[in-house]
Amino acid sequence: MNIADNIKIINEKIERAAMRSGRTAKDITLIAVSKTVDIDSMRLAARCGIDNFGENRVQELVSKYPLMENVNWHLIGHLQTNKVKYIADKVSLIHSVDSLKVAKEIDLRAKSKNKCQDILVEVNISGEPTKFGVGKEDLTGLIEELQSLENIRVCGLMTIAPFGADKDELKKLFENCNNLFIDIRGKKYHNVFMSILSMGMTNDFETAIECGANMIRIGTGIFGNRK
Ligand SMILES: *Cc1c(COP(=O)(O)O)cnc(C)c1O
Repeated sequence: MNIADNIKIINEKIERAAMRSGRTAKDITLIAVSKTVDIDSMRLAARCGIDNFGENRVQELVSKYPLMENVNWHLIGHLQTNKVKYIADKVSLIHSVDSLKVAKEIDLRAKSKNKCQDILVEVNISGEPTKFGVGKEDLTGLIEELQSLENIRVCGLMTIAPFGADKDELKKLFENCNNLFIDIRGKKYHNVFMSILSMGMTNDFETAIECGANMIRIGTGIFGNRK
C-alpha cells in the first residue's frame, strides 16, 4: 500500500462514518500525524491533498517547519512550558494544553508575536494515571481560568482513547468527551469558542466520528508503521 492509496481509503472511511453521524466528509478535518515520517513522504501526502500535519515533538516540528510550504502545523504531543517559545509563531493549533502554567506561557509568547493562539484542552477521558491531559473533574475549573488569557483562544477539546479498548468502551469514552464539549459550549465563557473536537486515531477514528469528533489525527493509517 502506498500513501496515496492509504489517504484515499481513509477519506472513504471518513465519508461513511460522517454520514452515519448525520454529517459529511467536509465536516471532518483530517490531520496527518507525521512524527518520525520523512519529508518526502510528507510532500507526497501534501500532493494528495493533506494540508494539516501533526507532530508530537517540538524539536521535530521545528526542524520540518521550513521544509514544507502552505501547510498548517498542529502540536499534538505533550508540551513543556520551556519549549513553547520554539513553536509560538509556527503552529495553527496546539492540541495538548492541560495546565494553567503552560497556557500562561503560550499566552505570553503569543502576545509577544502579536497573535492570538488557538488551543485545545487535552482531557484525560479514561482517567488512566499514565496519561497526560486534565481530569474530567478539573476541566471546567481550568477552562474558567483560561478565560483571563487574552492571547489564547480555547477552540475545543482533544482526547486520546486508551490503547486496545474495545468498541463499547471507546464509544462510552468518546461520547463522554462529546458531552463535556457540548456542556462547555453551552456556557458561553469569554475567549472560549467550542468548535473543535479532536479525537480519533488510526484504530478508532470511525467510532470517534460516530461519537461527534470533527478533527481526527491519523499517522499509521496514512504513512504505515513508524520506524
Ligand atoms: C501518534 C499520535 C497519533 C496518531 O496515531 P496513529 O495510531 O499512528 O494514527 C494521534 N494523536 C497523538 C496525540 C499521537 O501522539
